Amino acid sequence: MTTLTNLLDLDPAQLIAYCGELGEKPFRAKQLQRWIHQFGASDFNAMTDLAKSLRDKLAGRAVISAPAVISDHTSTDGTRKWLLDVGAGNAVETVFIPEENRGTLCISTQAGCAVNCRFCSTGKQGFSRNLSVGEIIGQLWMAEFAIRKSKGLEPGPKGERQITNVVMMGMGEPLLNFEPTVTAMKLMLDDNAYGLSRRRVTLSTSGVVPMIDRLAQECPVALAVSLHASNDQLRDGLIPLNKKYPISELMAACRRYLDYAPRDFVTFEYCMLDGVNDSDLHAHELVSLVRNELNPVPCKFNLIPFNPFPESGLTRSSNIRIKAFAQVLIDAGIVTTIRKTRGDDIDAACGQLAGEVQDRTRVQERMQKMTEYQNKYGKNFGRIVEVSA
Ligand code: SAH
Ligand code: SF4
Repeated sequence: MTTLTNLLDLDPAQLIAYCGELGEKPFRAKQLQRWIHQFGASDFNAMTDLAKSLRDKLAGRAVISAPAVISDHTSTDGTRKWLLDVGAGNAVETVFIPEENRGTLCISTQAGCAVNCRFCSTGKQGFSRNLSVGEIIGQLWMAEFAIRKSKGLEPGPKGERQITNVVMMGMGEPLLNFEPTVTAMKLMLDDNAYGLSRRRVTLSTSGVVPMIDRLAQECPVALAVSLHASNDQLRDGLIPLNKKYPISELMAACRRYLDYAPRDFVTFEYCMLDGVNDSDLHAHELVSLVRNELNPVPCKFNLIPFNPFPESGLTRSSNIRIKAFAQVLIDAGIVTTIRKTRGDDIDAACGQLAGEVQDRTRVQERMQKMTEYQNKYGKNFGRIVEVSA
């Protein structure tokens, strides 16, 4: 039996090579790529400007296939969340956040996550596996054309794009699934695919320092760093990875990244946890961290009200506290925003993505995979930390 090639797995160069194997010129690959990513086609027969012989060849050996949609919910505020089947009882989530002049898609890169941050429900479920290129870009492909369809819009390359921004902020740590994530992002940027500017694609990381440097070389996009703490003791207790890559190394990596970044600042995400990291002292400590006279880090802060989930044992800071915290940063001249919580009624908010159809009996297996990851990335990686906060 021949295995069918999923064309969503191929980046522009690989698609050219694939067409070459079929005896086709590179421009055919461009046409094919436009059909897939700009018209949302999944049926080769619909690709009317390709020769019938090529369409037949493709139909026999290739498919265009994104993960199957298990559920599709729209919140009262317009936020739309899809739950996608990635096989073997694993599901991941993709969230669309419409705003007045832009539409942002939040994409997952792994089923589960091995970093196991204390405040994140994805982390609490353990790590299952990395997503493939097709499963990552397939989220954008599926969502863009599903949204167009529900608005009655025609597919097509120009003018009607619904998703104008992408954030790699769904389930998983994108820098621990580096190559598929970068390949998928290259497709997002490619003019014959989605043509998004680098400034409109943001990768969020919990701070995998060596991979931040690799990203700078291979695919510099806007960078968001999940900081969440103003000193190492506090951060060690919230993000176990901090023991491997402490804050000073993370700040140095951010500074290096800015030489390559499409924006001249890093966005620090800071999840507001009541009584844990939200005092004025913490805010002042942050100011000295990023305004350090010798080595300042050009940055913005995005304060995220914690989205609680039952097992966390944590609560959200009050709105008054969040505002007071923001004011300390603003008074120090740091651009600071407080993130609006969206999609609460459909559990689509940050950190609530848990792929709820997961077969819970497979927790043992996922924990085993997590241990393998920890062995690979260092003993302080993952689910091991006593929280001192
Ligand atoms: N793994 C990457 C990207 C996915 S998480 C990272 O950690 O950056 C996306 C953002 O949601 C991160 O800033 C993360 O810290 C934040 N987050 C996780 N759980 C949250 C929760 N329960 N409430 C609010 N924000 C949360
Ligand atoms: Fe993983 Fe990010 Fe959740 Fe931490 S916050 S467990 S890195 S998905």
